[in-house]
Amino acid sequence: MEIMVVQELRKELSEDFGPGDPLARIKAVHAVPLEPGDRTLCGTPADDMERLAYQPSGPDVPWLPPNKQDWECSTCADALRAA
Ligand SMILES: [Zn+2]
Repeated sequence: MEIMVVQELRKELSEDFGPGDPLARIKAVHAVPLEPGDRTLCGTPADDMERLAYQPSGPDVPWLPPNKQDWECSTCADALRAA
């Protein structure tokens, strides 16, 4: 399955932080199947999520970037393992 990696940000805190990508704003990192691409594997609408530049280069590499593993969505991870 081809996926893109997106991060869900905490909206309620967004005004406390400046521009950029502070790690404190991340709520979870999800996987979205490229087709149809509108929902994460855990069923959340992906419209508001921020796409990461990271792209897994194969089935044996982690699906999310090493510096974002603390925020791995376990439901997305399980769905990817089962795929
Ligand atoms: Zn998820």
